[in-house]
Amino acid sequence: MAMKSKVLIVGGTGYLGKRLVKASLAQGHETYVLHREEIGVDIEKVQMLLSFKQQGAHLVIGSFNDHQSLVKVVKLVDVVICAISGVHIRSHQILLQLKLVDAIKEVGNVKRFLPSEFGTDPARMENAMEPGRVTFEDKMVVRRAIEEAGIPFTYISANCFAGYFLGGLCQPGFILPSREQVRLLGDGNQKAIYVDEDDIATYSIKTIDDPRTLNKTVYIRPPQNILSQREVVQIWEKLIGKELLKSSISEQEFLAIMKDQDYAEQVGLTHYYHVCYEGCLANFEIGDGAEEASKLYPEVKYTTVEEYMTRYL
Ligand code: NDP
Repeated sequence: MAMKSKVLIVGGTGYLGKRLVKASLAQGHETYVLHREEIGVDIEKVQMLLSFKQQGAHLVIGSFNDHQSLVKVVKLVDVVICAISGVHIRSHQILLQLKLVDAIKEVGNVKRFLPSEFGTDPARMENAMEPGRVTFEDKMVVRRAIEEAGIPFTYISANCFAGYFLGGLCQPGFILPSREQVRLLGDGNQKAIYVDEDDIATYSIKTIDDPRTLNKTVYIRPPQNILSQREVVQIWEKLIGKELLKSSISEQEFLAIMKDQDYAEQVGLTHYYHVCYEGCLANFEIGDGAEEASKLYPEVKYTTVEEYMTRYL
């Protein structure tokens, strides 16, 4: 059997990144995690890094401000996965990855790079609304740099992180499901796709040594998790044994409210708009030159929406 690739995770202390570290170790990869000098006395992050080390990961020091330090760590591995932040209400550092691309280009031995994507496919969002389109534009800038440098890649389109979307019954600004009421976005009938973040990590790691995913986009579409907001609400209602009081927010109202929010909120709201009013995640077929993760890896027992939501009971 072919040797498993050595993997470097950048952004390993993040919401998704820590799951990528766990999945990489679980799938038997020698795993390196970038320890940025700048995290200084952030005790939680240092403790997290130490726990990765206890689980068998190697911590490697480097900084985005020091090209040679990135070159040094990239040299150690075959595969680089970046999960740097890209959510404006938290932090958005997508373009910093250009420095990582420079390091990977210089080293020249990386067999696969997975940039920080893990959401809506930015290549499909040319007509996205302001100001949220910045997320897709920045991710496309990184893609172009990767492709111009001739770096082998896989782009993971992970659709909706379950924690954000299921936790809040698809309502922006909520991450815990109410037992009383819910506001439907429009008629609540547009389909979206929800994926447990641990499953996103598992599928992502599965792609790295797989020739079928080389230089392709991999969409994660667990078939049972392609549901409308109404269907998500129904699942929750069944779990709590009670119907929620429902109201609805029209497209016009949603857009009008959005205008009064600050920039970071508006970025997030435009993403919800495309997902929940336009159905941008599920309204297309996966064409040639792309793959679907649950078909490639039927052995992964993914978490269904109902299973995920039991954690809120
Ligand atoms: P986080 O906000 O949790 O941050 C991830 C990492 O970014 C951290 O580990 C941090 O590393 C690193 N980072 C932040 N600032 C800097 C900096 N200045 N220099 C270097 N590293 C930095 O990220 P998420 O897990 O929320 O997001 C990861 C990806 O997932 C993004 O592409 C995002 O767009 C996407 N996403 C998709 C969602 C969806 O529903 N589809 C939802 C949420 C995110 P350190 O600890 O070293 O500071």
